[in-house]
Amino acid sequence: MRLIEETLSVPITSIPRGSTCETFTVEMKNVPWNIQGITFCSEEGELELDIIRSEYELILNGFLEADFSVECAKCLAPVVCSVNAEIKRMYSWNPEMLSDPEVEPVSHNDGTLCILDPVREAIILSLPAMPLCNENCKGLCPICGVNRNLEECEHGFEA
Ligand SMILES: [Zn+2]
Ligand SMILES: [Zn+2]
Repeated sequence: MRLIEETLSVPITSIPRGSTCETFTVEMKNVPWNIQGITFCSEEGELELDIIRSEYELILNGFLEADFSVECAKCLAPVVCSVNAEIKRMYSWNPEMLSDPEVEPVSHNDGTLCILDPVREAIILSLPAMPLCNENCKGLCPICGVNRNLEECEHGFEA
């Protein structure tokens, strides 16, 4: 199997029949992540791809391990999260299979299986919904906007 980092896609001709499992070390800066509010903060990520190819189907199972930085829900400071995101997808060439909402068409545009969207979704799902820089983060003052972890302002403070 081959992985094109710049589009996070796998050329379909490089996927053999049967079951193939491979781990790729991904240079994170090569991938157009473009996820709002989330940036990568490890140089490399480990992407494990397990693909079963049959006549009409591609079944993808995978994991991405990497560190991402998100904003603290209260004070907006960066919070580093180690992600181990699980990717599961099913693709088919058979139009009849596509009535199943779980099954996606294999896109033929450029002869590759683009996994960027499923990986993005998996990253978002594996991040905390309310990331906090610290359990006791005091957040921003709603009146003047100072970071109350760093400064005090005249607007009082409730814990
Ligand atoms: Zn915070
Ligand atoms: Zn204030």
